[in-house]
Amino acid sequence: MSDRTAPVLRGPASVVETACPLDCPDACSLAVTVQHGKIVKIDGGHANPVTDGYICAKVRKFGERVYGPDRLLYPAVRDGRKGDGKFKRVTWEEALELVATKFEAAKAKHGGESILPYSYGGSNGLLTQDNLDAQLWRRFGTSRLARTVCAAPTGAANMALYGKMSSVTYQDYPEAKLIILWGVNPSASGIHLVPFVKEAQKRGAKLVVVDPRSTQLAHSADIHLPVHIGADVVVALALHRYLFANGYADQAFLAAHTHNVDILRERAEPWTIDEAARVARIDPHALGQVAELYATSSPALIRCGWGLERNRNGGNAAMAILSLPAVGGKFGVRGGGYSMSNSASWNLQRPWIGTDEPQTREINMNHLGRALTEYDNPPVDVLFVYNCNPAATVPDQKRIIKGLERNDLFTVVFEQVMTDTALYADVILPATTFLEGYDVAKAYGPIHLELGRPVIDAVGEARTNADVFGELCTRLGLLKDDEPAGELDLMIAMLEQLPGTIGDDLRRGAPATPEFGGAPIQFVDVFPKTPDRKIEFCPAALDASTPLGLYRYQPDPETDRYPLALISPASERTISSTLGELPRPDAKLSMNAADAEARGLADGDLVRVFNDLGEVHTTLAVTPAVRPGVVSLPKGLWRRSTRNNTCGTALVPDTLSDLGGGACFNDARVQVASLATA
Ligand code: SF4
Repeated sequence: MSDRTAPVLRGPASVVETACPLDCPDACSLAVTVQHGKIVKIDGGHANPVTDGYICAKVRKFGERVYGPDRLLYPAVRDGRKGDGKFKRVTWEEALELVATKFEAAKAKHGGESILPYSYGGSNGLLTQDNLDAQLWRRFGTSRLARTVCAAPTGAANMALYGKMSSVTYQDYPEAKLIILWGVNPSASGIHLVPFVKEAQKRGAKLVVVDPRSTQLAHSADIHLPVHIGADVVVALALHRYLFANGYADQAFLAAHTHNVDILRERAEPWTIDEAARVARIDPHALGQVAELYATSSPALIRCGWGLERNRNGGNAAMAILSLPAVGGKFGVRGGGYSMSNSASWNLQRPWIGTDEPQTREINMNHLGRALTEYDNPPVDVLFVYNCNPAATVPDQKRIIKGLERNDLFTVVFEQVMTDTALYADVILPATTFLEGYDVAKAYGPIHLELGRPVIDAVGEARTNADVFGELCTRLGLLKDDEPAGELDLMIAMLEQLPGTIGDDLRRGAPATPEFGGAPIQFVDVFPKTPDRKIEFCPAALDASTPLGLYRYQPDPETDRYPLALISPASERTISSTLGELPRPDAKLSMNAADAEARGLADGDLVRVFNDLGEVHTTLAVTPAVRPGVVSLPKGLWRRSTRNNTCGTALVPDTLSDLGGGACFNDARVQVASLATA
């Protein structure tokens, strides 16, 4: 039996359809087998054709999180030292009353801004973030969080150039004659893109991969450019220069649809193929081939990923890459243009959040350690963490832990499992997983929304985000009588607000697409959402606020002491840090043979990876999969994943990218040595 509308099933095995709202571009349809009220299997569904009946191994194992030993089952309060992980069970009434009382006390002492809400993409569902939570924070006047740990530089560039125009979706990749995968590895994250790339290759498309690692797709590519960390911007500028210098720039398009192309051309001028190749440490001949291929192919498609943004030049890299289709005249054909996050494709109204509350202090989430240990005007007295695990995932781990250990900080963690952050909580509130509540999953690779629904009862006493934030709003007197106050009310209100037939589609269980359909052609079906629908290559305010100006390169921060660039790419095992609690072998540091030999290291050695910020002890994997000068630890590690209870984020500075205030994970510069000789 397949069912989208029946209540939670408690009888013999049945298959329930729902959708995955986790932080992944694909938002898969799911078919979950439930037997006697328990999940026994999670598989791909067919409601959304992009899912096509298969899903990643991560979510196939999600039942291990739902029923695992780390699952938080009851509200609890701290019963030991911070970080010890000792808690005493309390009732929801006691826990919420304590939280509300602490909120009131903090506001009375240092003002609402002394409360810091802290969240990210543990769920991307429309109900589980930026909803009743946003209403609570705004109406209570807390500090606001700049949610910039990921996608901030690319998002800022896309906004500046195109007003976040919708981009080419997976279904149209097979139309392309050239695909450039730039800073993205769909084999690990957003896996449903891979078959479309392969289909394009089967039809004769050329594939270029720009990545410091030899990923699976890099192996099958016609050209692989293993660009050194932070140098993507100069590679893209060299392509611009090639287009301008060799008569390939589409002057008619530029005149009709853009502003300030002269500034871009001028700033690309120093970046000859040879000079860019020298800085990026790649073969100039290969870069020249890519330039000619891009200039002469149509439809030509660039997939702009997130790997390229995680450094000091990330915003400028995204600006230069996203400008290429405009200069090269690649828009206006199916399969041509650029492809990136489509999360802004929906014009969603959430009137219940409100917009007229006073602006309060904004804290960049990458500065959590500073906020907890240094900010004093006002200090952070209360930290409320949900949908994320900053003790493991945010730069400068040591300083964050120091902040979390403060005895005068009251920390609330609203979570599904006992994360590294939850160990430091004063109050724990158990949260439902997406399999225990309603949500609307939003795809940002393909463009669709899909209804997620509970397939089992809440485990233990876990509650949904909407119910808990609604309850806190009510306790603090922040809601009007007619406003939604819980999950079902909110769901109904949201479905009613969605434009066109979207709400009806979702109620029927069908994936919904925007009015322009699920596969737009750029500059035919969708246009820049800028005031005059033109591309602004160099917005003056942005140019002035960027350290060296737009389309500029800040050199590598490496020093003699720390010559290796540490990267932390997405892996096949976690979605950011979600599922990082599941048992698995220690994380390995990947290193090229040349770098290992230079340090007298061999595969399987225990090593220390270190810099002035911290030190990680782990096992070495010697592999050609990373280029010389670069070492790699998987993204999303928990403290338990390494030998010394420390994540790669302990080695990451909390410096910010040139645009958007993004995290500079890949600007960690480290040295590696044998633990045996330490
Ligand atoms: S994480 Fe991504 S690939 Fe995996 S089930 Fe969810 S949407 Fe699909």
